[in-house]
Amino acid sequence: MKKSNYSGVALLIVGFLFILILSQERTEKMSTKEESAYTWKEIDSTVLMAELENKMAQERQEEENSQTSMDEVPDYTKMFPDLYTEYQTPKEMDKDKKIAYLTFDDGPSENTFEILDILEERDIKATFFIVGSAIKNDRDDSLKRMIYEGHTIGIHTYSHQCNEIYCSIERFLEDFNLVYEQIHEITGERVNIYRFPWGSNNGYSKGIKDALMEEMERRGFTCYDWNVSADDSIGHPTAYSILNNIKKDLKRNDYPIILMHDSPVNDLTVKTLPDIIDMLIEKGYKFETLDLREPYQFPW
Ligand SMILES: [Zn+2]
Repeated sequence: MKKSNYSGVALLIVGFLFILILSQERTEKMSTKEESAYTWKEIDSTVLMAELENKMAQERQEEENSQTSMDEVPDYTKMFPDLYTEYQTPKEMDKDKKIAYLTFDDGPSENTFEILDILEERDIKATFFIVGSAIKNDRDDSLKRMIYEGHTIGIHTYSHQCNEIYCSIERFLEDFNLVYEQIHEITGERVNIYRFPWGSNNGYSKGIKDALMEEMERRGFTCYDWNVSADDSIGHPTAYSILNNIKKDLKRNDYPIILMHDSPVNDLTVKTLPDIIDMLIEKGYKFETLDLREPYQFPW
């Protein structure tokens, strides 16, 4: 082998060794890089998780905030700050007792005193749903007498005009407040029960009914419909039809709430009232005021 050949081989070996060292260094460097990249990856995912949690919390907060703004109280809740009352839910009713609740809507009228006389004679208590606009000057006394003799007064609105009371919750409250104040002024009573003209499920109040009832409940008022109707203000009633209408629905209801009217066009109701009461007594009923009965609203 020539001398030049030896040096060539030596050069090759040195070159090989150099490349080997370099590649090793590179591998070492790469693994450090990879390791650090992995560590960063770990940190990255921790940061990501934290960011995600923050975002979710933020979203939750935003949702809660929007919920709160949706639950914001409507303006009508701020109207009439004195239009609040208290209603005591009656204790559970005795299932063995037969109790009927006589109710008279639309009064006072020129018939009110006669109705009160009939009730007084028999020592029977009833419930009157008052229309504010019907309280004329000389009718204050009939309201005073109702309270004095142990009857219950409920509210049946001031105007009893569907286009006035059912166009908005604000208008209903405005109307209701008038009669509420009126009754308070005359009798000192803060009425806590009411009945909607045409009942709670009437066609006029459909759009506002649920919110309105909720608002009335929030203010402490309880709504009572009826489950027996004398139908004394529909068509051409007779004494017979009035008595029969009550009789036929009695059996269908425990604790019948009997709807009758106290208005100038309902003379027949007053004339029939003694017979109605006798019929109920004969069937074993006792009489109480409506505030002692658990609330009743039409189930439909
Ligand atoms: Zn009415």
